[in-house]
Amino acid sequence: MGIFLSGDFIEEVRSRNDIVDIISEYVSLKPSGKGLFGLCPFHSEKTPSFNVSPDKQVYYCFGCGAGGNVFTFIMAIEKLDFPEAVKYLAEKAGMALPDTMDSREYALHKDKRDKIHEINREAAKYYRKVLLSPWGEKALSYLKSRGLDDRTIKIFGIGFAPEGWDNIKNYLSDKGYEEELLIQSGIVVESKGRTYDRFRNRIMYPIIRPGGYVIGFGGRVIDDSLPKYLNSSDSPVFNKSSTLYGLNLIKRGQPIEHVIITEGYMDVITLYQYGFKNVVASLGTALTQQQARLLRRYTGEVYIAYDGDKSGQQATLRGLDMLQNAGLKVKVICFPEGMDPDQVLRKFGSRYFKELMDNALSLVDYKLDQLRKQYNFDNVDDRTNYATEAAKILTKVQNLLERDVHIRRLETQTGFSARLLYRQIELLEAKNRQDGVKKHIDGNNRYTGRNRINIEILPVHIKAERYLATLMATDEDYAKKIVGRINTEYFEESITAEIYEIVSGLMKTGKEISIPRVLSYVQDQSKIQQMVEIFEQPIEYDNIDKFISDCLKEVICNRLEKRRQEVKELIEQIEREGNQRTERYNTLVNEMAAIIQKINMNRQGKEGIM
Ligand SMILES: [Zn+2]
Repeated sequence: MGIFLSGDFIEEVRSRNDIVDIISEYVSLKPSGKGLFGLCPFHSEKTPSFNVSPDKQVYYCFGCGAGGNVFTFIMAIEKLDFPEAVKYLAEKAGMALPDTMDSREYALHKDKRDKIHEINREAAKYYRKVLLSPWGEKALSYLKSRGLDDRTIKIFGIGFAPEGWDNIKNYLSDKGYEEELLIQSGIVVESKGRTYDRFRNRIMYPIIRPGGYVIGFGGRVIDDSLPKYLNSSDSPVFNKSSTLYGLNLIKRGQPIEHVIITEGYMDVITLYQYGFKNVVASLGTALTQQQARLLRRYTGEVYIAYDGDKSGQQATLRGLDMLQNAGLKVKVICFPEGMDPDQVLRKFGSRYFKELMDNALSLVDYKLDQLRKQYNFDNVDDRTNYATEAAKILTKVQNLLERDVHIRRLETQTGFSARLLYRQIELLEAKNRQDGVKKHIDGNNRYTGRNRINIEILPVHIKAERYLATLMATDEDYAKKIVGRINTEYFEESITAEIYEIVSGLMKTGKEISIPRVLSYVQDQSKIQQMVEIFEQPIEYDNIDKFISDCLKEVICNRLEKRRQEVKELIEQIEREGNQRTERYNTLVNEMAAIIQKINMNRQGKEGIM
């Protein structure tokens, strides 16, 4: 698709679509304090924690952490991608779609992305042709041995990358694609001045985005070579952590009861062949927050179909919590010892698989199950520890009847009376509440939403960075006090550095500065979300000038301190090598003296800029 929209056009669309009007079409909002509150459309809740700020033109849910501007809201609720959401809102405001689409910048950007999509498509066609040729015989018989039929192989566009270093490279070069683009697409690798095919002697699974664009590949060996699986590197059209394999085959535009999440390509493909059409896999990594949010656009419920031996791992449990925090109901399918979904289907068929789905555990049951495996109930200490840990899990169960069922079971298992177990859970809940109140009193975190980053635990210089980023995005006068005093390199977090870049860009072109406008210059949904999280952090100060100068001091000191550490290590290395007579050594020693002086000046309240 490769649509590129200019920030100015997006800002125009945004300014004509007030976020309160747009969200009110979906959520009933009531005024409260500075903003408006309503029931979150992205997770199920009974008390409103979804907040809309007319000043900042953003929304933020203190329950599930969903947040963004008017575009991300429309993306999430209407299941659109960014350009589609802009188009939707432009049309709503009666605006013609932009001439900016013809601008040079757009043309260049679009051109590159289009070319990479084209290259990927050509590559997929090539790999498929090879699979069906004598060259792919071994690979095809491997796929057949895994139970795949011709139709499925075709639907998923599976192919084969033959042995050799420059098959696809030559094929695509002959078609006229520049080597530079082949490298950027990730199909050709450049190393030590040499270029060669990334995928060799591998079965190729094209990764396809909804809309039919091939954005990358997963490749699996058919012998014992390592690594067993290899993915395309991230490219201008491919980002592993925000992509799910199989998503392109899920039908949009109709409510989907549930989506099954598996670990690998083969599980997705086999499940599909056996009639389970709504199934996806992450690309060889633990689930990310972006993937969880992406799924939330499609469905409200997910079934986890992982290998038995892997599912208990910490990374997996974190992934499951992430899904739940994104507002999804999570169920975990339990497979017979040592079997994975693919094996279960091929051995016992789809009816049995459906039975396993019907018996899938809720996330709480699953966690208790995993916990139980770690303890020996014949041992008193183990029983106590198990009951203690289980009580922690049960504080998360809101439904009291459901909680009662768990407690009765726990009573039988551990021998502790139900009354005592109830008491233990109450104590834990009281403690959680207290922690929440404490945060409230500390003033930096008024809410205790599950996803909310507790700013208290961040290092001081990061807090300072975030305050500066928020202030400069809020008002031109503040921005003038910050921009020029430091530059992007002073920001440790890339997201605050990006805010700085946008604000200083707006200043250069003489444009008005405000939080809604700054957000219009960002098109990546997860970046918008991160920025909104930063902008929503409460800031308290008595004197703005002093507050800004204190924050600057923190950020500058941190930078100086880091450089001091680097220089110290360089000096020590030269001393170890006995090269103290070199000019480089003198330069470093002088730099060290200058840094220490600047640090001292900063401490005394004066400012030493690097
Ligand atoms: Zn929510």
